[in-house]
This record gives sequence, structure tokens and C-alpha cells, in this order.
Amino acid sequence: MAELVFREDPYARDCRARVVAVTEAGIELDRTVFYPTGGGQPGDSGTFARADGSRIRIAGAVKGAGADAVLHVPAPGEQFPAPGEEVEAAIDWERRYRHMRFHTALHLLCAVVPAPVTGGQVAHDKARLDFDIDMDRLVKETIEAELNRLVGEALAVRARWISDAELDAQPELVRTMSVQPPRGQGGVRVLEIEGVDLQPCGGTHVANTREVGPLAVVKIRSEGARNRRVVLGFA
Ligand SMILES: [Zn+2]
Repeated sequence: MAELVFREDPYARDCRARVVAVTEAGIELDRTVFYPTGGGQPGDSGTFARADGSRIRIAGAVKGAGADAVLHVPAPGEQFPAPGEEVEAAIDWERRYRHMRFHTALHLLCAVVPAPVTGGQVAHDKARLDFDIDMDRLVKETIEAELNRLVGEALAVRARWISDAELDAQPELVRTMSVQPPRGQGGVRVLEIEGVDLQPCGGTHVANTREVGPLAVVKIRSEGARNRRVVLGFA
């Protein structure tokens, strides 16, 4: 089980770590700043700096078999480190920061469009959510204005853990969540944008909505009988 540095500090760009396992599938560290692909957010890319000064380019990160296991996947042709070796693991920060801004923007979109979410994806230059909603209830100008109002309000964004006991004691909390929390794991990590959105989420986010920056609704279109897709970009 690795220490997932990005959970407590999504702004951490690098960390010293020890290689604990190496397989063809990837490299496991005892701690990492690399977010693994999941929840619609792409895994991080970056580098491992070795003691001899050389670097291993890491093309991506995915979830491993165990709980909290992260597999760092080297780019084609790169060397693999040896178990026990110490490396300085660093993510491609510019790329990750865009993911954080877009991911936070999707939480805002979730709050602006009051309908069940059926899917979502963050990419480098856009992000989308799919909703189960009638097309005529999605008005580009209205959604865009609401999103940019929330960005402009500079709202605090924070992740915290809520225990099952705390959830049981506050049924109204669960009702306000757009996604129902999983039970039986002792607790759940929730993302809260004060007064706007509260839901279980394991992704990385910016600390304040102002960091998202101005948003544009790039596209609204039908994806099948019930799905309506709203695509966002940075304005
Ligand atoms: Zn999230």
C-alpha cells in the first residue's frame, strides 16, 4: 500500500520515493505524487530521477491490484529501476494542473445542471459530463454564465474524509450529495465546494474555484436516447 501524496496535497509536484515492485505492468513506489487514471481523470505523466542523474520518462499511471496501489508505466524504450532503488518522482505539473482545473469545473457543472450524471471525462483541452435530461433544459448561455459566476465567487474547494457514523448521523448530508457514498469501508472521501457541491470523489482539485479560470460551454449534444453531453473548455 503506497502513501498517496496527491490525496492530501494535490499541489505536490514531486516526492522522494523507494521502488517497492517492478513488473512488466509498471513500477510501484512506497509513496507517490502520480494520480492513477480513474474517476474520469487521466493518470499523470512525468519522470523518475535516479541517483546517477539519469531520468526515466513515465508515460502514465494506472491503478494497481491492491488497495492504493499505483503502477507507474515507463515510456516505450525506457529502463526500469530496481526494487529498493530511491528515485525523485515528479509529475508533468502543467498537464496535471489543467486536469485539476477541469475536474473542479465538472463539479461546478454538476451543481449548475440539476440532473443525474451518467458519465464524465477530463482531457487536456476539454472536459465533459453526460446528463440524463431533456435537451431543451440545457441552455448554453445560462450554463456558461452560472459556471463563470461560481468561478468568480472564489469559493473554497476542499476534500475531507467522512466516517460511516458521521454519514448515518446526518442523513440530510447524504441527500445533498449528487453521488451516493459507498458504505462499509469505514468512511468515504468527499469533495466539497461550500454551498455548491458535495460528493464522494477521489480525484485532484484546485483549492479555490477562482483557479479554474473562465469557462466556455463548447458543445451540447445528444449521445443516444437519454444522454445529453455538455463539453467545457477554457475560455
Ligand atoms: Zn472530484
